[in-house]
Amino acid sequence: MPKKPLPETEETLADIDGESPEAVQYAIRLVNVSRVYDFGDSEVVALKDVNLDVAPGNLVVVSGPSGSGKTTLLNIVGGLDYPSGGRVVIMDVPIGDYDETFRATFRLTNTGFVFQSYNLISTLTALENVMFPMQLSDKDCGTLRANATKLLEDVGLSNRFNHLPWQLSSGEQQRVAMARAMANDPPIIIADEPTANLDSESAETIRGLLVKLNKIGKTVLVVTHDEDIISLPEARHLRMSDGVLSTDA
Ligand code: ADP
Ligand code: MG
Repeated sequence: MPKKPLPETEETLADIDGESPEAVQYAIRLVNVSRVYDFGDSEVVALKDVNLDVAPGNLVVVSGPSGSGKTTLLNIVGGLDYPSGGRVVIMDVPIGDYDETFRATFRLTNTGFVFQSYNLISTLTALENVMFPMQLSDKDCGTLRANATKLLEDVGLSNRFNHLPWQLSSGEQQRVAMARAMANDPPIIIADEPTANLDSESAETIRGLLVKLNKIGKTVLVVTHDEDIISLPEARHLRMSDGVLSTDA
């Protein structure tokens, strides 16, 4: 089936930008999603018939053993990977129906990623790392720089704008990554074991930032073993085991 190009109506583009999240029914909807890695003579089934509905503004926490499919799940929700079967609907948009150009724009404007190992670009300063995902914006450079400055201030790094990643502590690097995830003010934040490499004080800061984003209305999907995230009163906790996502505990 041919893939649809980028839609051009104003109404649909507003949806892509995530400008009207209150009108959205599902921030994330997965219907019978599977992911099979095919090696010719063998295959790995990373996700088996996964179903998930997440309303806008929810905080969902997924835990489970190593190799159970958690990162695969996040990559598919974030549009970094594609399912072998099933349907993926993000902000009510069935992203599998669209071509790669659309999906690249869609994931930049709708999802912000935070990784266990920060994944900052080593040759760019903190400010430049935060500005990096803003490249598709039609705003002028001065406005983008001001926005990035504000995002770094929000994570408490107003005195670290020009530091390179290696000049920052682990906790500071993850705070830059949190600011970068917010670069395009996406409605969905996806975090893959965001506190796993951090000391307890830095982990507490990152937990606080995730809760703050959720409180301002962001949908937050976190994979973690961090009991202090799992036990958050606002969190809905799901378990992944062998590619199967449990229903609500
Ligand atoms: P988790 O994040 O829970 O540790 P992953 O989603 O990374 O699990 O991996 C799930 C399964 O899929 C594992 O068996 C892993 O080896 C396999 N897998 C993950 N990514 C790939 C890939 N790109 N190619 C082949 N197999 C993969
Ligand atoms: Mg993983």
